[in-house]
Amino acid sequence: MDADVIVVGAGLAGLVATAELVAAGRKVLVVDQENEANLGGQAWWSFGGIFLVGSPEQKRMGVKDSFDLAWQDWQGSAQWDRLDGEHDEDHWGKQWGRAYVEFAASIKREYLTGKGVKFTPMVGWAERGDGRATGHGNSVPRFHVPWGTGTGIAKPFIDLAREGAQKGLVTFAHRHRVDGLVTSGGAVTGVHGRVLAPDSCERGVSSNRDEIGDFEFTAQAVVVASGGIGGNHELVRKFWPERLGTPPKRMITGVPAHVDGRMIEITAEAGGRLVNRDRMWHYVEGIHNWDPVWPNHAIRILSAPSPMWFDALGRQLPAPFFPSYDTLGTLRYLRTTSGIDQHDHSWFILTTTMIAKEFALSGSEQNRDLTDRDVKAVLKSRVAKGTQREVQAFVDNGEDFVTADTLPELVAKMNALTDEPLLDVDVVTAQVEARDREIGNKYSKDFSVNAIHNARSYRGDKIGRVTAPHRMLDPKHGPLIGVKLSVLTRKTLGGIQTDLESRVLGSDGNPIEGLYAAGEAAGFGGGGVHGKNALEGTFLGGCIFSGRAAGLSLARRVG
Ligand SMILES: Cc1cc2nc3c(=O)[nH]c(=O)nc-3n(C[C@H](O)[C@H](O)[C@H](O)COP(=O)(O)OP(=O)(O)OC[C@H]3O[C@@H](n4cnc5c(N)ncnc54)[C@H](O)[C@@H]3O)c2cc1C
Repeated sequence: MDADVIVVGAGLAGLVATAELVAAGRKVLVVDQENEANLGGQAWWSFGGIFLVGSPEQKRMGVKDSFDLAWQDWQGSAQWDRLDGEHDEDHWGKQWGRAYVEFAASIKREYLTGKGVKFTPMVGWAERGDGRATGHGNSVPRFHVPWGTGTGIAKPFIDLAREGAQKGLVTFAHRHRVDGLVTSGGAVTGVHGRVLAPDSCERGVSSNRDEIGDFEFTAQAVVVASGGIGGNHELVRKFWPERLGTPPKRMITGVPAHVDGRMIEITAEAGGRLVNRDRMWHYVEGIHNWDPVWPNHAIRILSAPSPMWFDALGRQLPAPFFPSYDTLGTLRYLRTTSGIDQHDHSWFILTTTMIAKEFALSGSEQNRDLTDRDVKAVLKSRVAKGTQREVQAFVDNGEDFVTADTLPELVAKMNALTDEPLLDVDVVTAQVEARDREIGNKYSKDFSVNAIHNARSYRGDKIGRVTAPHRMLDPKHGPLIGVKLSVLTRKTLGGIQTDLESRVLGSDGNPIEGLYAAGEAAGFGGGGVHGKNALEGTFLGGCIFSGRAAGLSLARRVG
């Protein structure tokens, strides 16, 4: 045998499983289609946000959180509705959901800090929800940002795998693409595939697919940790959720090309049950990267609530579809509302004061201050006045950004970015002026204005994230900025069904001997730990939790 365990995928989930196996003295062969520069997979590119419940960082910010509140939020977001009978696809997802919230409210932070992860004092309020206590969304801020952003989460596990290699416990097979699982007497005993030609491309850049040979490796068990389908628009379109209408004709891509979804189908060919394939998490606030790394490279804007959000015809989106509120609710609205569902874009209009404080861009390379752990730069860019360097680069170079001193001039420039001039300047102006009249008081009948007041009641938002309410048309806060937003593909919420030990289940509901799955390929646990919606910061955590479960279970069973 080539190892005790073969791990397919050197992303976060695979590396966490590897770390647990190495800690137990087991031998691991890590097989990945990409080169060594890509160790850590998507996690390296990520913003690094981590969902924690009842943390010291929350307490310092005056946030009162608890397992009960978080579990209420999780269930309200998940909306699991496939629990019984023939359609029991959520059976394991729900159990994973509860176990995961327990993990986030207990040992998750300690597990990570024990591996060397360090958290900043910043706790962001992502997915503020659909406006109901029992509905989707975070009742309180829970998005913990680590020093190093995504690299701060991925690197400790990369280091552990490399230390394992030095001890002779880990072997890496880079540029090995798995094309099938080897089975014997119903059990999975290995993998086979093609060796790809060496490629010295940098992290994230699409590598060649030239085949130079075959391989077959055997082990006592295989862990599939191959990521989701977000880089494969064909699969995204094929499984697009019915409740979200039709997929846009044009989408942009929020993940590297290696997130191709192939391995999920390969696992099904070996008997693994695939569930909830129509559950996905794509963002509406996508912009074209002016300095792309991978094909069609998209960046997600993480905005606080002040910018006004308009549909393609220039009508402000209704409550609660404000920035940072309800990702899939907004996507559903845009894809199912008659008249706008045929258009692929929407718009932010905001002031220069707003962009300085309220825009962040998701991605480690878009947050150099945090990624480089430069405290002075963080204070300068996040607390002092002025627009963050990477955001300003998009204002200056991004194809989706326009600026102007007056609204008519801005709308004319926005119209020039689309095939047809769909925006009527009078319609847009009337709404902006009406919103500006609501700004004088600390309360309002306008929910979008109340969203700003509510956010500023949270200390973290007031200090670093949300501007004092001001009139959009006040020249002191100009110039005005228009941003064209496109749908960005990212996460896969369904996939390979697993039990709480990350063992892959067959169509009869029983574990397939020797076969495990973790991370995004397994819907972050159980084939759908999130159900229909996510609370954010839960994907990296889902990779850690399910990778750890696989590693711990296998450490007991092999060797
Ligand atoms: C820009 C960005 C920002 C993000 N921000 C956050 C955030 O703030 N918080 C959060 O929780 N999540 C975030 N995420 C999501 C999170 O990073 C991913 O969901 C997670 O890292 C997925 O890890 P994984 O190990 O499951 O898969 P991946 O990282 O995709 O790794 C899978 C690996 O498997 C390999 N592979 C695939 N198929 C094969 C095959 N057939 N043979 C051999 N190898 C194969 C791939 O090459 C890859 O290296 C973000 C993602 C991105 C891209």
